[in-house]
Amino acid sequence: MGFDSLSSAYTMFTFPDLPYSSNSLEPYIDQKTMEIHHGKHHKAYFDNFLKAIQGTPLEKESLESIFANISKAPAAVRNNGGGFYNHNFFWNCLHAQGQKIPAGRLGQEINASFGSYEALQKNLIDSGLARFGSGFVWLILNSTGKLEVMSTPNQNNPLMQDESKTGKPLMAIDVWEHAYYLNYQNRRADYLAAFFNVVDWSQAISIFEKA
Ligand code: MN
Repeated sequence: MGFDSLSSAYTMFTFPDLPYSSNSLEPYIDQKTMEIHHGKHHKAYFDNFLKAIQGTPLEKESLESIFANISKAPAAVRNNGGGFYNHNFFWNCLHAQGQKIPAGRLGQEINASFGSYEALQKNLIDSGLARFGSGFVWLILNSTGKLEVMSTPNQNNPLMQDESKTGKPLMAIDVWEHAYYLNYQNRRADYLAAFFNVVDWSQAISIFEKA
């Protein structure tokens, strides 16, 4: 059975297009990286997630519900369900003409929690540099309603019940080498600095306003 026929059996989960053209983040994130990252890496997580849940009760659950009970699920569901969700979220954290400064109530809360937007950026960058191996950096709204920076290994995320910290994701940065290696090789710091040229805070603002 090919991927297309497998995918078509599921109406609940769909593989998203990039919300912008693959070359639109250049020169900060190059077209080839975006094409491979979305078309190969993200697609493989999606396909393998569908295989992992096929014929199980998880087929009828939302990703949020699966993550809330992730310790009961097989590793393939964690890794591929996480990879599917995390990239869906990450693409919407980027846009060449996006909201470059977190405005409104979120902006105020960032200033109150971190001192300034620049301080939050440094916190996110430091967290990305400190993440050994592969993972994601997150700004979350934690269960007590506070903003917090955290990182997760592999394709884990802050919605997974057994993470060290949990909460609602507002912003994500993919720090897997596949996110930057073609353009930046081992220079993760340069990639993290470049990220803020193409960041889009509009998704974060929208989630924060509704929370
Ligand atoms: Mn990735």
